[in-house]
Amino acid sequence: MIIYPKTCENLKGIEYLKEYVEKSKGIEIQLLSYEQTQKKTYEVLKRLKNEMPQLNEVTIHLPIREDFNFEALAFSKLEIEKERLKKLCEASEECDLNVNLLYHTRWNYNSWSNSGAIDRMKELLEVIQNSRVNILIENIYALVERRECAVLKVAKAIDDSHLKVCLDTCHLHCVANMFKISLNEYLNTYLNKEECEKYIQQIHFAGTLNKDGYIDEKKTHGRAHDTWASFEEDFNILKQFGIEDKVIVTEVSEDDYSTRKDQIKEIQMLLKKEEEI
Ligand SMILES: [Zn+2]
Repeated sequence: MIIYPKTCENLKGIEYLKEYVEKSKGIEIQLLSYEQTQKKTYEVLKRLKNEMPQLNEVTIHLPIREDFNFEALAFSKLEIEKERLKKLCEASEECDLNVNLLYHTRWNYNSWSNSGAIDRMKELLEVIQNSRVNILIENIYALVERRECAVLKVAKAIDDSHLKVCLDTCHLHCVANMFKISLNEYLNTYLNKEECEKYIQQIHFAGTLNKDGYIDEKKTHGRAHDTWASFEEDFNILKQFGIEDKVIVTEVSEDDYSTRKDQIKEIQMLLKKEEEI
């Protein structure tokens, strides 16, 4: 099982996460500051590589705010994003790391297609060809999406080896719950196994308390699974769609990076599962 722990740009709790990072040789970093994200990213990559020379891969999650969604950046700051990717290519060489840059998107496939966002993504992908940098796009709960997984459709339409999907299990629960569809029925129309296997690079894995995750985001979204049964239900989704061998990022307790206790609990559940398999 490939488990990448997640922490913030200040590397909070890295001393507790280190043994797990070293095992899978990867980590995800949440950027928290809204300014100087370029400089922050470079500093974080350097620091991580210095502290863990065997590290092989880092996913950089842009700040969680609407103006950092792909559609916002691609239409207002395309040239700046190209520059960001150029600099990431340089940093990945200098630090000897695979680097993934993760964008959220709230748009459905029609918006991507009709607005020209797909062409803008292609322009960005040109910058990272022949590099160790990938772009990841993540599904987030979106009222306009309902029965299609836009990020998988976009990845399929563009079909570039540097563009991959990050599937968030919490947001699957959120959307099913918003539209009052049973999770099983919803998953069967929303996800396609072959597409999942081909385009998903990593999973954001966490519990969604009360199957909610959007009404009171801070309390219900991205929590450590509170029961083994709820953990197994979510792990079975990965198995159902053939993606249990992808990178699993334990994305929990994002409201508080001061301690990573919940995350260690979540990692240990995954390790227990690994023993069972
Ligand atoms: Zn996520």
